Parts: sequence; C-alpha cells; structure tokens
Amino acid sequence: MLKTADIEKTADDFSRILECDMSLAPFSSFRIGGIARRLYRPADIAETHALTASLGGENFRILGGGTNVLFASPVIAEPIVVVPRATTWRVIERTEGRVLVEADAGLPMSVLVNETASRGLAGLEVMAGVPGTVGGALVMNAGGRHGTIADAVESVRVLNGTGETTIPATEIEFAYRRSSLKGEMIGAARFALAPRASEAVRERMRAIVDEKRASQPLGARCAGCVFHNPPGISAGGLIDEAGLKGAACGDAAVSEVHANFIVNRGRASAADVLALIDKIRGEVGRRFGITLETEIEIW
Ligand SMILES: Cc1cc2nc3c(=O)[nH]c(=O)nc-3n(C[C@H](O)[C@H](O)[C@H](O)COP(=O)(O)OP(=O)(O)OC[C@H]3O[C@@H](n4cnc5c(N)ncnc54)[C@H](O)[C@@H]3O)c2cc1C
Repeated sequence: MLKTADIEKTADDFSRILECDMSLAPFSSFRIGGIARRLYRPADIAETHALTASLGGENFRILGGGTNVLFASPVIAEPIVVVPRATTWRVIERTEGRVLVEADAGLPMSVLVNETASRGLAGLEVMAGVPGTVGGALVMNAGGRHGTIADAVESVRVLNGTGETTIPATEIEFAYRRSSLKGEMIGAARFALAPRASEAVRERMRAIVDEKRASQPLGARCAGCVFHNPPGISAGGLIDEAGLKGAACGDAAVSEVHANFIVNRGRASAADVLALIDKIRGEVGRRFGITLETEIEIW
C-alpha cells in the first residue's frame, strides 16, 4: 500500500529517475530502437507504484527485459516505465509436497529457474532458456513445447492506483503466448513448486536448454519467435518451406537455425525488420494461403 506522501507526488517529482530522449536500442534484445521521449527507471516496486499512481490517467508503457519487443517508431511519446530489476526471490510457505515461492516482476526468469532448480524445486524448468523477466513471461504466457509459466503460477500481485490486488491464477486467462494480465502493472507473482531431488530437476532443465541451443539462435540479436504458430502448424516450418531461411532486408535476416527468428546481423534498422516481416507474410500467404500473425510486440 502506498504512503500518503507518495500518493501526493506528481510526475514532476520523479525527474530523478526520468531520462528524456533516450535511445531505446539498449533496452531491446534486437538492439534496435528509436527514441523514448520519457523513460522512467524506478529503483524498486514501491517507487514504480508511486510513479504509476502519479501518472494518473496518462497512458504509459511497461517494459520488462525487452526480449519480445521491436521498437519500430522513431519516437515514442508515451512515457515508458522500465520495470526495476530484482535479484532475489523468497520461499513463502512449505507444506507437504508443495513449496510456495514469490518473485518480484523484474527478476530475470533465468535466475528464478536456475535457483529454484538448484534448491530441488520443480515446476519452472520448462522456462529454461527463455530470456526476459518474470513479469514479461506472465504477460506473454511464455514457454514452449514442454509447458508454460501458467502451469506453475499460484497468484499474481498487480499495482493499481494507490493499492495492490492479488489475482489468483484461476482468475487469470492464460492462452497461447498471451494472458489477461496484459495492461496491468505486475509487481510480483507466487509459484507453487514441488520438492524433488535437485539433480533430477537440473537434469530436466539442462535437457530443455540443450534442445533450445540446437534449434534456436541463442545469443543472436533477436526477440524470439516473430510469428505465432497457426493452430497445429509450425510458423518456422512454413517459412522454411517457403525457402526463406537466410532471406534478408538490409541487416535483418531470417535465421538459418530457426526460420521463425529474425536476427539483427549488425546494423539492422526497425524498417529492415518490418520489411522482412512483410516479405515473409507475403510469401507464406501466397504459397500456403495462411496469414501469419506477429508474436513480437511492435512499439
Ligand atoms: C533468444 C530468445 C529466445 C526466446 N525464446 C522464447 C521461448 O522459448 N518461449 C517464449 O515464450 N518466448 C521466448 N522468447 C521471447 C521472450 O523472451 C518472452 O516473451 C519473455 O517472456 C518476455 O519477457 P520480457 O521481460 O523481456 O518482456 P518485454 O519484452 O519487456 O515485454 C513483453 C510484454 O510484457 C509486458 N510486461 C513486461 N513486464 C511487465 C510487468 N512487470 N507488468 C506488466 N507488463 C509487463 C510488456 O508491456 C509487453 O507487453 C525468446 C526471446 C529471445 C530473445
């Protein structure tokens, strides 16, 4: 809950954490971006809460790890709030066969996955190899063929106005790479995990990472899968069959490792990525009569 002094703050009181006309490229895993007119970088969740309350009815955007976003506009005028990075998570409750853990939204998913696995807590290893933050993963219902984050969520705490609301997982709509949390400011989440031998959990995690290393261009400047898989069909398979692996617009290219990834080979611009997206859509539409929808967010 916010203190009265915080409630009375206006957006001007946050000038200390405001950066104006900031390049967004360092905030995206594509390393591409225009300018943010107003980029706020609160230090912690309490400051995030006070800031968002002070923005009143003004629309703002929430940025986690920036691993699912293409900053396409040369200038973004709406304020962007960067979710503060967190470093720790905590055990809330241990009962027979169940351990409830809580993590702040800005915790890198990789930290939560690795550390819970090391302590012999099973349930999040399906998230191994997914970059970004806990908050971004919840909004995107991130995951893969072994499962998604939704499988382990117990509840999510969202910040609204001057208060916080805890939403039980049963009241959150999770679907393929989306959730009803979109638009909420997530502060923290609780996950129900199962105690297991840590070596077994780590082994499963390693197997999933090995699978990804073999099939995804991990380490490349990209934002994961560009397109949703149409029902029952692999978007990457369609792009590959259309002969588009390696196709390029400027320095943006279809990955040779996974055709549903576009990689920035060096100096790609947002226009290059958008032109390549159009080219892929056009070719796949022409050959297979299927319209691909983007999974990455285009800001
Ligand atoms: C190499 C690579 C591999 C990838 N592999 C996978 C994969 O296997 N599976 C998969 O699902 N995805 C994958 N992705 C995509 C991406 O990592 C996930 O979607 C990730 O969960 C996004 O998290 P983020 O913190 O980076 O979110 P961002 O990209 O910053 O934001 C994504 C969305 O979440 C919102 N958001 C972020 N934080 C909050 C918050 N605290 N409160 C409210 N809204 C918030 C943003 O407003 C935006 O709408 C991959 C990306 C890369 C670069």
